[in-house]
This record gives sequence, structure tokens and C-alpha cells, in this order.
Amino acid sequence: MRAIRNKLLSRRGINRLVAILVALGIVLVIVAGIPIYRAYKARADIYSCTVATKKAQDMLDVEFLWNYELSHEEAEAVIERAKMEMDALCPAGGDYFLVDREDSDQRYRVTCGIHEADTRLRTRLNAYHVYELLGEEIIYARRRGEALDDPVVLTVNGRKLEVTELEEPNDLRYGTGSNIDYDGIVCFFTRDDAGELNWFVYADENHAGRWNPVDGWTGDAYNG
Ligand SMILES: [Zn+2]
Repeated sequence: MRAIRNKLLSRRGINRLVAILVALGIVLVIVAGIPIYRAYKARADIYSCTVATKKAQDMLDVEFLWNYELSHEEAEAVIERAKMEMDALCPAGGDYFLVDREDSDQRYRVTCGIHEADTRLRTRLNAYHVYELLGEEIIYARRRGEALDDPVVLTVNGRKLEVTELEEPNDLRYGTGSNIDYDGIVCFFTRDDAGELNWFVYADENHAGRWNPVDGWTGDAYNG
């Protein structure tokens, strides 16, 4: 009796060991697969975004042939139409921008806030976009007679971005002077006594764009 019981116990022990090894194996495969999957997804996103941007650009160019005086608003309407036809333009959630190209027959170039290859241009587009969104938030809060959210949370390129109000300007490591290190994307601003924006900075992993009413836009995203 005891022998059978021992045998059963030991077999159960082996079964458990096998189960643990299998589970460990599965975990290993998943863990090892995540970076591979992420890299694959990132490449697939770039590809889909490029294809969708190209299609939107084609629609825009056709429209431009019909209407040579195409305004920025009309061009934006074409992009909105392209977006509806394709569900979304950028699979990663990138915001779309029209870049002026006055030297070319095609007046506007369509690009994405995540996948634009020119990193300085990308920073400038996103910085200006966030600056505009923040300006709207300030106006809304004033109309409602409420204080501005702290931080102001904006959706930029499909992700939440915290925009923090400071007592006085700070300096960021890249392109804006130096004392604060940062990771990823950061954004700060200050306001004057009348509640108007008087300093704004947006910085990503590549460059920074800084704005004030006297100098306009500066920062390394605007050099070179
Ligand atoms: Zn994109």
C-alpha cells in the first residue's frame, strides 16, 4: 500500500515538475516574443502610415488639380475625407499635419506626427499643435470661469500628454538651455498676471521647441 502511495506521490511530483517547466517555457516564449512583436508592430505601423499618407496625398493632389487656389481649410477637409475612407490614417494614432510647400506644384504635403522622418520638423509640428490645443484650453477655462486643470491633459498623437504650468520658466536639457533631464515627451508653460501664455516648451526624445511672445519660436527644433 505504502509503495503504491509513494509511487503515486512521486508521479504527481513529476507531473507537477513537467507542468511548471511547461509554464516556464510558455512564459519565456512570451517574454522573448514581446520585443520581437513590438519591433514588428512598429515596422508594420510605419508601412501602413506611409501607404495611408500616400493615398491621402494623392487625394489632395487630385483636388489641387481641380482647385489651384486650395486653401488650408479645404486641404484639411480632403484629409478628413481620406481619414473617413480609410478609417484612420495612422495605425499608431499619429495626428496629421499639412506642411506648406510653396516651392512645389503640390502646395501641401501630408505628414504624421509620429512617423514624419525629419525629426526637427516633427518636433515643430507637434510643439505648435500642443501650443494651439493649450491655448484653446485656456480660453475654454476662462469662458467657464474655472481654473485650468493642473496638469492640463491633452491627447496628442493618440496618447495622453500632461502639460504642466510652472511658476517660472525652467530649462530643459535639449535645445533650451539646461537644468532638467527628461525622458520621452514633456511640456511646460507659464502665464502672465492676465492669464496669457508667456512661455511654453515642448520637448521630445530628439528636439525641443520653445515659445515666448518676444522671440517667437526658438529651440533646437528651429535650428538647422
Ligand atoms: Zn503615422
